[in-house]
Amino acid sequence: MFDSVKGFGVTFAHMFKKTVTVKYPEVRDATAPRYHGRHILNRHPDGLEKCIGCELCAWACPADAIFVQGGDNTAQERYSPGERYAADYQINYARCIFCGLCIEACPTRSLTMSNEYELASDNRRDLIFTKEQLLAPLLEGMEQPPHPMRLGNSEKDYYVSGVDNPGTSIGAEYSSTERQQQEASS
Ligand code: SF4
Ligand code: SF4
Repeated sequence: MFDSVKGFGVTFAHMFKKTVTVKYPEVRDATAPRYHGRHILNRHPDGLEKCIGCELCAWACPADAIFVQGGDNTAQERYSPGERYAADYQINYARCIFCGLCIEACPTRSLTMSNEYELASDNRRDLIFTKEQLLAPLLEGMEQPPHPMRLGNSEKDYYVSGVDNPGTSIGAEYSSTERQQQEASS
């Protein structure tokens, strides 16, 4: 009898506490700033891709969720500074556990994670994101690759100047819903 009263006491006490649930999807609380959401393949300030097709992210992934196929840049067709680029890049979100090991492994900071978490789908095919889906959008001043290197003659120019001019994933670190809201309010 006493235990029952004690139990109801806990329930009663919680009735007057602040509600922590929200009416999703009508209401969306902001995630923690470092929340691990959908990945982004970032770009240099001129639009060239930061990914060099090295596959380190794929090797680091404990869930075997990443597929990378490297390709050679040529003078006529350049997608990234240096010798190599990712000819194909896929992440399978049916496998990904959002651990972040892949972004730690990436030597060029090409791969980062956004706060976007709305990734559910009713079929597996749609959970395999292609390179086109993962690439950061082109911002003002960026040009769609392939194109020559605009920031210098060697890939070093990109990484040395990268400290002050890091390129961007700006706009891609937000969910598509947040992006639409930002565009509407600007
Ligand atoms: S977050 Fe983890 S599981 Fe997902 S792709 Fe990266 S390494 Fe693999
Ligand atoms: S995302 Fe980074 S680690 Fe993965 S292939 Fe590209 S450069 Fe290498």
